[in-house]
Amino acid sequence: MPIYELACDAGHRSETLQASTDPLPACPACGAATRKLPSGFGVGGTASVPPPAERMPQTWKGTHRGDRDYVTHLRRVADARRDLEARNPELAGDHRPVLAHEGRFEGSPLRAGDPAPPRPAGADGAAGEGSAT
Ligand SMILES: [Zn+2]
Repeated sequence: MPIYELACDAGHRSETLQASTDPLPACPACGAATRKLPSGFGVGGTASVPPPAERMPQTWKGTHRGDRDYVTHLRRVADARRDLEARNPELAGDHRPVLAHEGRFEGSPLRAGDPAPPRPAGADGAAGEGSAT
């Protein structure tokens, strides 16, 4: 079965392994409808650029529940990316572990070593910083 790279209107990227006639799955990040992208990378393609770790599936569901063929593909892509970054260190992104990437961290995942961002105003009611006595 071919692997398709998908994108939703919010810009999330994902991949799916399925027959070309099957309906496309919803975006795993936000649930919106997806569309196929022109094939960007393939297994072993020399002209293709493997995606950075941030664009690899981050969840069990994102690996199609551990689909063997898909996980093998992901491993090859990850290996290709690692080789690419070894040859081109400037391409290496932020490799610190992601501590949180859901809820208010969805847009900007919290990485190990990052300071905790300020709480949104009013998110926790009146109890907050600054005493009003
Ligand atoms: Zn999305």
